[in-house]
Amino acid sequence: MRQRYDPGMTTRPAHIDVTQLADRLYMIDAQMEGMAERLSCYLYDTLEPLLIDAGPATSFDHLCQVLDHIGIDALATILVTHVHIDHGGAAGHFAQRFPDARVAVHHVGAPHLARPARLWNSTARIYGEETLRAKWGEMIPVPNDRIDALFEGDAVSIGTPTDLQILDTPGHAKHHVTIFDPESGGMYVGDTVGLCYPHGHGIQPNTPPPDFDPRALTGQLRRMASLDPSFVGFAHFGPRHDAQQALVESEERIWEWVSLIEGLARLPEDEASRALAVDTLERFRSAGASTKQLTFYDTASGRWDMHLSGVRRWIHQQGARPITGTEDEV
Ligand SMILES: [Zn+2]
Repeated sequence: MRQRYDPGMTTRPAHIDVTQLADRLYMIDAQMEGMAERLSCYLYDTLEPLLIDAGPATSFDHLCQVLDHIGIDALATILVTHVHIDHGGAAGHFAQRFPDARVAVHHVGAPHLARPARLWNSTARIYGEETLRAKWGEMIPVPNDRIDALFEGDAVSIGTPTDLQILDTPGHAKHHVTIFDPESGGMYVGDTVGLCYPHGHGIQPNTPPPDFDPRALTGQLRRMASLDPSFVGFAHFGPRHDAQQALVESEERIWEWVSLIEGLARLPEDEASRALAVDTLERFRSAGASTKQLTFYDTASGRWDMHLSGVRRWIHQQGARPITGTEDEV
């Protein structure tokens, strides 16, 4: 009989940060890139323990320490919201460490976990090989026969009477699933709803190429709202319990960004990226963010040119179609 984890345990090492969200449900700070409040993983400590998002390989040792600390000696499932390296990068490492675990991932993302070279190379084109290795670490393949390919409507068992439900939610990436837990009402959205840090200054869209699609996203955000979640579990970072508000806010921010970037069409990439950063950080500043928090937002948003190019690519694909005005589009 293993001991139930108590978040108030006095023996907890200072760098281990676990928040209990419901019975046997925890949020773990993955300490991504050595920083607090950058990446949340969610853990069901049930009969069939399940971890949502593997994090990058550079967070793997830390996550293992946290699992040890909670008393998890075996995972049944590592469920990756999407295969971007900050979410799926350590999937192969987890598969190696827990030889009986399954790795569950959107069917489009599955080949990238089995053969990570293409994913690695395309990400390295954005960040540079050395930076990528230092930032997120090496991926190792997940054996084909250990992967469960997820589709819309799938149910994933955690060993309780109620399974987790899988929603196919493109918009941030075509290989993105959202996980809904009808029992707690928790909805784990990966990067679909955007970035939302716990300092309380609101949501920032997360719009990388090549898959960013605001129309698809809008449809998914409304579908998520219709399930009336009790909280939205962001990957970056943590839960928001005003779920309906968060989903509406996300839609508004996305279309504001699209309009803003459309208005920057004449500027070269570097100037437009800077303008996007200035505008976004100014919004956080006027919402009350301190200088230190603004530095965090700037770092945590990743590459502004990446967000810019994701939106520009989508605008370009629309050709002569009107860009904004979502009402009758979804
Ligand atoms: Zn991410």
